[in-house]
Amino acid sequence: MTEPLLQVKNLKKYFPAGKNVLKAVDGVSFDIPRGSTLGLVGESGCGKSTIGRTLVKLYEPTSGSILFNGRDITKFDRAEKKAFAREAQMIFQDPYASLDPRMTVGDIIGEGVDIHDLYQGAERQEVIYHSLELVGLNREHANRFPHEFSGGQRQRIGIARSLAIDPQFIVCDEPISALDVSIQAQIVNLLIKLQDQLGLTYLFIAHDLSMVKHISDRVGVMYLGKLMETADSAEMYKNPQHPYTKALFSAIPVADPDYEKERRRIILQGSVPSPVKPPSGCRFHGRCQYAMPVCKEQEPQMKEIAPGHFCACHLHQS
Ligand code: SF4
Repeated sequence: MTEPLLQVKNLKKYFPAGKNVLKAVDGVSFDIPRGSTLGLVGESGCGKSTIGRTLVKLYEPTSGSILFNGRDITKFDRAEKKAFAREAQMIFQDPYASLDPRMTVGDIIGEGVDIHDLYQGAERQEVIYHSLELVGLNREHANRFPHEFSGGQRQRIGIARSLAIDPQFIVCDEPISALDVSIQAQIVNLLIKLQDQLGLTYLFIAHDLSMVKHISDRVGVMYLGKLMETADSAEMYKNPQHPYTKALFSAIPVADPDYEKERRRIILQGSVPSPVKPPSGCRFHGRCQYAMPVCKEQEPQMKEIAPGHFCACHLHQS
């Protein structure tokens, strides 16, 4: 088995909320093997973006460890943090908001190169051109400004900016949500191609479950700051076991008219409770059609229910 590039153990990230504490991420553990993609899914507010931001050190974790190449990034000093910023990049949801409109595309892509003092002069220019070509743009685009590009092209510029400093790991935080459906598949296919070409490792955060299936090797389902189920992508989509995963996945349309006729959509009752006061026991118990008395009292632990398939539910604890 490939050695994990990233090992996350019992990660917690809490935020102050008045006199209370908002538990955005509350004890999450997973590995991402080198050169693979972990897809993170769940309703908005479940903590998936907070995990992404913590993994690239935009947030400091409240507790837990994050091993990157075997070294705990939560203990890095200033110089190590700067070096790590080159290894771990982030692609954002809104490509336009993340690009400075006053800078040329060449300068946007070259900014990271300058911050890390990697190349100067002609070499710097070559890196900018090469990054543009990697994402399907061309060197003439370097002199233009972000407003001259379409949404899909802007996301390509955002990806080129990340690639220019030669990272190992990229957090893709809902990178296709703001794009037209026709463009989404192009960006996902580009990310897959770049992964094959450059050996990149991704955390892919999304709520479009069909795209997550396409790009991910493994998938993690989050609910209210906790991981509920993790499995290889094919297994997760074929054989979801957690009641929340089943409900989430029951909404995905399938390109098979016979299957579609039979498909039973599970409508989740109620809304996601507040992460300031998460429910006792299983956090999903108020919305789960299978809830038992034990579910209110005891938190179910992650258990391997089939090789590589983990689920936190009392229906699967024995
Ligand atoms: Fe439902 Fe209980 Fe399983 Fe939670 S532990 S998902 S409430 S059956």
